[in-house]
Amino acid sequence: KSNTTAIDVASLSVILEKNKHYYKEGVVADYIPELGKVNPAAIAFAIVDSNGKLISVGDRDHKFTMQSVSKIIALMLAVMENGEKSVFEKIGYYGTDRPFNHFANLETMGKPLNPMMNAGAILTTSMISGQEDKPFIKILEMIRYITNNPSITYSQAVYQSEKETGHRNRGMFYLIKNTGAITGSEDQLNNYFRQCSIELTTEDLAKIGYFFANECRRYDGDNRYENKSLAKLILSQMLIAGMYEFSGEYARTVGLPSKSGVGGGIVVSVPHCMGIGVFSPALDNHGNSLAGYHMILDLANEYGLSIF
Ligand code: GLN
Repeated sequence: KSNTTAIDVASLSVILEKNKHYYKEGVVADYIPELGKVNPAAIAFAIVDSNGKLISVGDRDHKFTMQSVSKIIALMLAVMENGEKSVFEKIGYYGTDRPFNHFANLETMGKPLNPMMNAGAILTTSMISGQEDKPFIKILEMIRYITNNPSITYSQAVYQSEKETGHRNRGMFYLIKNTGAITGSEDQLNNYFRQCSIELTTEDLAKIGYFFANECRRYDGDNRYENKSLAKLILSQMLIAGMYEFSGEYARTVGLPSKSGVGGGIVVSVPHCMGIGVFSPALDNHGNSLAGYHMILDLANEYGLSIF
């Protein structure tokens, strides 16, 4: 591995400045109306290096909703509570050539392709035990723990907006319910909408990336959730489906387990090494942050971070 401790504020700044123009070529998600209100030019770049040191540049205090990045936390809790075998009896390990909100496999095989697409994530969230919003609270508490940031909460406005307009997600929820894999009420779908609406910063994302890169150990060394096998599972899912149908090309060009969200964040894990967080809300046509992708690509190339 290259010496990632050589990455400093100056190196991140250079990469951010070089790539910030990409927001003009992307489109801010507005299918969830509340998401369309963000400043499209906001941008941030953060890493937690192999020593657990946090470095960040740009709009590092800017909060945005984590959206699909929350799917890795829901997967973590579903597996912790139910075991991998029982979770993956109901969800596939498949990669995808389909967008994140596709119904792929629900009709033909009766189960979601993987836990990184909406259908799979709606199901993992429903596997976390507890009444009403308790499963969501567990997800929120886990994110607060990983980031060591108890102030993290969720946006009521984005939550309401998702709930009012998430007709495809509601459709998936009922198709899965029809197979018997989901037995609860729409409270479970609401928990998925809530987890997507959790607001955090790019620095928080870098800490999440570090956690899964390092066998579920926190950046400050706390190891109460240490779990090598679980980290390997989550990194493998991030690699094959974390960027949806772009995952194959992304594995070729960047070569790092990553998870994007339509809020414009991407979390990246450099296995056994460091975490990276990027944010820029303008997306490419797969729903991945465009400037975010280019910042990750430049950092990976410059420091030889690809796992391949
Ligand atoms: N809340 C979004 C949705 O369900 C999350 C999608 C995403 O970030 N790709 O549509």
